[in-house]
Amino acid sequence: MTDHYAVIGHPIAHSKSPVIHAAFARQTGQDLEYGRLLGALDDFAGDVRRFLESGGLGLNVTVPFKEQAWALADERSARAELAGAVNTLIRLDDGRLRGENTDGVGLVRDLTDNHGFDFAGARVLMLGAGGAARGVLQPLLGTGLARLVIANRTASKALELARLGRALGPVEGCGFDGLAGERFDLIIHATSAGLADAVPAIPDDCLAPDGWTYDMLYGDRPTPFCRWGSEHGAARVLDGLGMLIEQAAESFWLWRGVRPETGPVIASLRRPASLSSPP
Ligand code: NDP
Repeated sequence: MTDHYAVIGHPIAHSKSPVIHAAFARQTGQDLEYGRLLGALDDFAGDVRRFLESGGLGLNVTVPFKEQAWALADERSARAELAGAVNTLIRLDDGRLRGENTDGVGLVRDLTDNHGFDFAGARVLMLGAGGAARGVLQPLLGTGLARLVIANRTASKALELARLGRALGPVEGCGFDGLAGERFDLIIHATSAGLADAVPAIPDDCLAPDGWTYDMLYGDRPTPFCRWGSEHGAARVLDGLGMLIEQAAESFWLWRGVRPETGPVIASLRRPASLSSPP
């Protein structure tokens, strides 16, 4: 029997998740269908309930419903708990809903498994303190990095996020002006500035020699922060397409107990598209 999954968001037409999961299903021989659900802005819980009542086994959740999905889940993983947001809902055998957040695992796997970044001893800067930054905090702090600095336009939000993560690893928060004189081996861009063709106002010299840049945004042409990385001598300039596919693979694994190979799917999606918000 064919099992049913979907991604729910608003808007949703842009989502690449159905293409990604269809590729995973083909590759692993899993009998499933994965659709798009345009969630009603005023009835997310009702849409989820109806999907599950019709036999759906799991959902990916995207903007603007990740926080509502967190509240709706009957139980949550530790990383979803800290993220304050859920991007994967799993219907358990007893009918209850488990909430997961796979964004951070996706980011870390893309950097380490796909590109070979070594977090051991690394000084890492994360720009932004919104949902995307919070969503990856726990897996990032579990990598063995030496130091994580969260810098945000509104400094108080970075300080608050750092406070949330402090029990898990070496994390500090500041405003962009707090970065003067600092050097980082990896800069992760997790603000929404790129959607307005902008980059955060950070010092020109905060990337260490041989440092890498990673933009959670992705597109068919270099994102504004990828251009910043190239212009500032980054040894590797990466965008967020790999993160998108790795977070999907983690959801697939949680639902199906089978881990798809992500490399071929990343390669097939490296094609023209406009700048996008995942998943
Ligand atoms: P939020 O709205 O929750 O947060 C926005 C963040 O961006 C805040 O920290 C905000 O700072 C900052 N910001 C916005 N404009 C500027 C600017 N001009 N200069 C400096 N900082 C700015 O958004 P999200 O955190 O949900 O999303 C951020 C990005 O991450 C999006 O582009 C999204 O597409 C991407 N993303 C990628 C994923 C992937 O799989 N590749 C997964 C999830 C997200 P302030 O607090 O001062 O307002």
